[in-house]
Amino acid sequence: MSEQLKILSTYLKSKYFTKFQNREELEKWQDKKMRKFLREIVPKSSFYQKYYEGASYDNWRELPIIDKGMMMENFDTFNTVGIKKEEAFQVAYTAENTRDFTPKIGDITIGLSSGTSGNRGIFLVSREERIKWAGNILAKCLPEVIWKEQRIAFFLRANSNLYDTVDKGKIQFQFFDLLDELDRHVERLNTYRPSILVAPPSMLLLLAKKIRETNLHIDPKKIISVAEVLDPLDEKVLENIFKQKIHQVYQCTEGFLATTCEHGTLHLNEDLLIIQKEYLDKDLGKFIPIISDFSRSSQPIIRYRLNDILTEKKTFCPCGNPFTALEQIEGRSDDLFYFKKKDREKYIPIFPDFIRRTIIVASEKIKQYTVTQLQVDLIEVFIEANDEHKKIIEKNIEINFKMLCDKLDCVMPKIRYVNTMNRDYGKKLRRIQRKFEIC
Ligand SMILES: [Zn+2]
Repeated sequence: MSEQLKILSTYLKSKYFTKFQNREELEKWQDKKMRKFLREIVPKSSFYQKYYEGASYDNWRELPIIDKGMMMENFDTFNTVGIKKEEAFQVAYTAENTRDFTPKIGDITIGLSSGTSGNRGIFLVSREERIKWAGNILAKCLPEVIWKEQRIAFFLRANSNLYDTVDKGKIQFQFFDLLDELDRHVERLNTYRPSILVAPPSMLLLLAKKIRETNLHIDPKKIISVAEVLDPLDEKVLENIFKQKIHQVYQCTEGFLATTCEHGTLHLNEDLLIIQKEYLDKDLGKFIPIISDFSRSSQPIIRYRLNDILTEKKTFCPCGNPFTALEQIEGRSDDLFYFKKKDREKYIPIFPDFIRRTIIVASEKIKQYTVTQLQVDLIEVFIEANDEHKKIIEKNIEINFKMLCDKLDCVMPKIRYVNTMNRDYGKKLRRIQRKFEIC
């Protein structure tokens, strides 16, 4: 079968034939998938074989957890295709430096995940997995059926031949390198006129500004925010300028985790992977996902703890999909702020969402912001707003922080205002960020 036909077959299977009436039916199906997957895959990975020694697959929900650190440490015995870490890194770095994004070892695509130096991950995707991924992403994201023409503009830090897989038949695909100049993007977009625009929200904001200045003339049917947290403040701005719902795809190198339905609700892709919840606060519905991807065998992701915080949606989504609905993706768990309790030497975690709200509700005049916790008792805030509003905004922010600290019975940290946004060029925008280690 040609690659194109295989993509189409996955597309059809995902779009029309993998449907569940309710949670129970879904979980039963997942359980079957998972057991079969474990029986087939574990014998191929000497890491997992050793790690699960003596454990029963009947209790797969309780198998010991892994994370990125463990995966990278045991890379050579972890993967099932015999690729060595050293070799994979070399291939990936060469690709990144030359901006030639076709790094492969044999049939396997090599990907580099972002992360601080020393914490970068390597991801392996086989041809078969690449095709499945393309079929699934098309099934979940295309605004119309696959045989309609689409021009996709995809803004990313680095391209990958993963994405070229999508560039088939009626579907055109163009990669926009985030490191290129903005004016160059505008020029290319004006010629290409994408029907689907996929970009991190920080780039969507720059493009929205160009539309407002009447330099950019595009009319996409669908806009998808990726790779960064979509801040409610930015979402509102983008919806106003693009005059449509902003959709989201939550995908990381570890898996294709969630997509928005027609109502704009993010649903976990529970037909592609199992997402268990490690609750940080059950009442608030905040959890860290533990993922098991039963469709990926070259680098098996089983009970893998991600570094993200998600919030469940409390209400049902009218689309009726039994896949867990999310209120939002909050951010990375290492961006939790920590405040000190008033009466003792105890630090308590503060969800990024709470910090975000202290800023957003301070004023409607805020255009941009970043909040960085530098120490337990020091927070740096950047606000973009007209000068005449700044004083009152700053005062409101102080009041909001004070209210938050009083409610949690914590010591109020000092707030320092700065004139530049906390952002490293070419890196992801993290509006809420912690920059110290807590033990
Ligand atoms: Zn929905």
